[in-house]
Amino acid sequence: MIRAIYPGSFDPVTYGHLDIMKRAAALVDELIVGVLNNNAKTPLFSAEERVRMLKDAMKDIENVKVLPFEGLLIDFAKQMDACMVIRGLRAITDFENELKMAQTNHKLSPKVETVFLTTSLEHAYLSSTVVKEVACFGGDISQFVPKSVEKMIQEKMMEKESVHQ
Ligand code: ADP
Repeated sequence: MIRAIYPGSFDPVTYGHLDIMKRAAALVDELIVGVLNNNAKTPLFSAEERVRMLKDAMKDIENVKVLPFEGLLIDFAKQMDACMVIRGLRAITDFENELKMAQTNHKLSPKVETVFLTTSLEHAYLSSTVVKEVACFGGDISQFVPKSVEKMIQEKMMEKESVHQ
């Protein structure tokens, strides 16, 4: 039984993440999408909101679970009895940081392997930051995120605007 974890902030989830998730789910018995609840960062969406948007986006894929986590990824992997961590690589700029993280995690727990999936070309430019920047200025994000996520982003932007008025 191969149980893998795909960790990330997913703030918000994009078609790039969903592509990696679907491809990873086809390779393993169970894929746990771990939504990082990091108190040091101020995300646009709370961990609960990000879990909700991911569950909705992945509802048709049976072997995928979505759970929030805090602290060390390796501790979460042990807790879930997972032997694999999946990460996505978009460009060479992702590589250095991902290599450091994979090597650190391997030192902390040699039984957990990090496996990299390379982005599908059409999503190579896509990041949560780009989506937030475009949405912030009222641009069209429909080609970057699913409809349900687009709606949540628009609602969040309106909420923020009304707070600042
Ligand atoms: P983190 O804060 O952990 O970097 P992200 O939500 O930005 O979390 O990304 C989670 C994972 O998904 C990372 O491995 C990242 O490289 C990968 N990823 C993000 N966007 C894409 C994309 N467009 N194509 C492929 N992989 C991606």
